[in-house]
Amino acid sequence: MTTKVHISEEGRFWEPEKFPLIIAGPCSAETEEQVLKTAHMLAKIPSVKAYRAGVWKPRTRPGAFEGLGEKALPWLQKVKQETGLKTAVEVAKPEHVSLALKYDVDILWLGARSVVSPFVVQEIAEALEGSSVTVMVKNPVIPDLNLWVGAIERIYSAGIKNIMAIHRGFHYFEKSPFRNAPMWEIPIELKRLMPQLPIVTDPSHIAGRRDLLQQISQKALDLEMDGLMIESHENPDCALTDAAQQITPESLAKMLGDLVLRQKTGTPDFQSQLEKLRTEIDKLDGELLQILAKRMEITDEIGAYKRDNNITVLQMKRWANILSDRLSIGTHLGLNQSFLEDMLQLIHNESILRQTQILNNKKDGKSSKD
Ligand code: PEP
Ligand code: MN
Repeated sequence: MTTKVHISEEGRFWEPEKFPLIIAGPCSAETEEQVLKTAHMLAKIPSVKAYRAGVWKPRTRPGAFEGLGEKALPWLQKVKQETGLKTAVEVAKPEHVSLALKYDVDILWLGARSVVSPFVVQEIAEALEGSSVTVMVKNPVIPDLNLWVGAIERIYSAGIKNIMAIHRGFHYFEKSPFRNAPMWEIPIELKRLMPQLPIVTDPSHIAGRRDLLQQISQKALDLEMDGLMIESHENPDCALTDAAQQITPESLAKMLGDLVLRQKTGTPDFQSQLEKLRTEIDKLDGELLQILAKRMEITDEIGAYKRDNNITVLQMKRWANILSDRLSIGTHLGLNQSFLEDMLQLIHNESILRQTQILNNKKDGKSSKD
């Protein structure tokens, strides 16, 4: 995948070399008092640069608290005047965009439910045209990197230059301690595709509960994410939305203070040792690939042999034996069982696919690629 999005660093309102960008604030704006009290407490934490508060809340079922809408926007204006923090709200419709801009909100974000719909994203993008606001694009609820990239491209094509991505985790069917599985490989791939795009991790929506926030935040920084967006409420247990994952500004200050910031590069000695180790890895990867190619060649030979003797491709007994034998060798060598299972399954799937193609080649008398 390639992309034409080029984010400039001009609009940065934080100093990445000093501390990652911290955005904090309640899940929802509930009362003027709650909004201002929380903001004043957060403004005392030097790394907090922006204040989030949901005003239009996307709720899964109707009847729950859906946010106060326009009524809460003057409170955010006050936050800005009284604390100097930038303000941020979620927008899900063109009307939200025009209201948020009318009340001078600095940062608008597209929520995870909106980003799954290119129609919704396009409408929001068109409403943003001509504005110089900063826009953050959350990852879509489902783990589809293309949808995330597509939404960023639509916002970029509307002329928005200051764009950030928010990683808030993905819906996942298997049991997991998280509300939304982080699937770190997806934001990492986004970083590879768009190296200048700041990615802010949202540990609150990944965790769904307070006790996991610290470890997720640390992991985000260890993986070179550019910031954190954390839900913070002056009285979290009484919050109208997402109570279990919100923390007080005091707990946030403690949590941020406990984070370990690591360097991206080291001393010349460290770099040269690292280069040596990387050269070894490059060589081993080359050997691994050659061995894999050789293995596939032999698989093809077996495939042709099975075909000529009219034998089925999938041999369950042989596959079961391979799996238990390789798992036993691999785990003895210190390799992780589930990594081995995934890797062997991938190799086996590819072998079956190649052998099925060989079988079809003969039937059609031509290559299955034709
Ligand atoms: C939120 O940030 O409060 C929110 C609703 O997030 P998401 O779109 O990630 O669910
Ligand atoms: Mn929330």
